[in-house]
Amino acid sequence: MLYPWQESLWQQWQQLLDQERLHHAILLLAPAGSGREALARQLSKTLLCSNGVTEPCGVCHSCRLFEAGNHPDYHQVAPEQAGKQIGVDTIRKCTRLAVETSQLGGQRIMQIDFADAMGEAAANALLKTLEEPPAGCQFILMAEALDKLLPTINSRCNKWRLAMPDEQDTRRWVGRQLMQDVKLEIVRINGCAPLATQAFIEQGQDIRYGNLLSAFAAFLQPPHLGLQELVGMFAKEGHHSLSWVSYFLVDCLKLQQGAGSFLVHSESLPLVQQAAAAVTSPLLMNQIRKANALHRQLDTHTGLNTELLIMDWLMGFMPQPKL
Ligand SMILES: [Zn+2]
Repeated sequence: MLYPWQESLWQQWQQLLDQERLHHAILLLAPAGSGREALARQLSKTLLCSNGVTEPCGVCHSCRLFEAGNHPDYHQVAPEQAGKQIGVDTIRKCTRLAVETSQLGGQRIMQIDFADAMGEAAANALLKTLEEPPAGCQFILMAEALDKLLPTINSRCNKWRLAMPDEQDTRRWVGRQLMQDVKLEIVRINGCAPLATQAFIEQGQDIRYGNLLSAFAAFLQPPHLGLQELVGMFAKEGHHSLSWVSYFLVDCLKLQQGAGSFLVHSESLPLVQQAAAAVTSPLLMNQIRKANALHRQLDTHTGLNTELLIMDWLMGFMPQPKL
């Protein structure tokens, strides 16, 4: 099943399928939380179907195997753990399967979710197969953005970008799914990706996000109370909470520079105003930079003392003792 914002891209693919002009390696650029897997599955199912050309018939042996998750010629590659790299061994296994004959006599599909999680060795292992594509083998790669992929991989693929609905459409769609009002700022911090926004609310992250922002804005006021509790909230929420507050601090900076109509947090204006009045622009810029660096650091290195590092960053908002 496809989502409404995927229809137009799907129609373009259907046209290529109809004309037998689909490239052997598709690269789908779309954020996580866009439902991109559904689009890749629809294409795979159609290619594998013994009856349909531009649409899976849903009744043939292949379609039934696909729906049951047992199709022997449909191979999905993903990191073993979310957020981790796809190893070179995983890609080698995939390229071996790519040159074998199909079990059902049709095509073989190699779907690489999170292609941007391939390390350099893995990407290089894939490259050779992409350069000399085996007959009857379709590659479908998915990634968030081009800049996270090796240029040599990019250049071998036919690239498609899945456009996200605009923020109002996303808000309406998520609102209908959950039967509740959805704040635009929640849509925005989720990059307008509808499924990401929906999951954010379903998991109660929107409420925890609101609590964290309130506690953070209060802490920014002298005499900077509640440091320990705030560190606890950040640590419990994980690294992405640093990107949340980074959006918030950028809003404070925009307000100070008179760009108040472009705020992400348009629904939390009082909080932004309060914080913007308490922190100077140079300090804001410095702390935003540090928050982004810390986020990257925590993402790439395990075993760091998260609480200590976050506390250190938060203390950067407090007046420094004179020596
Ligand atoms: Zn079928």
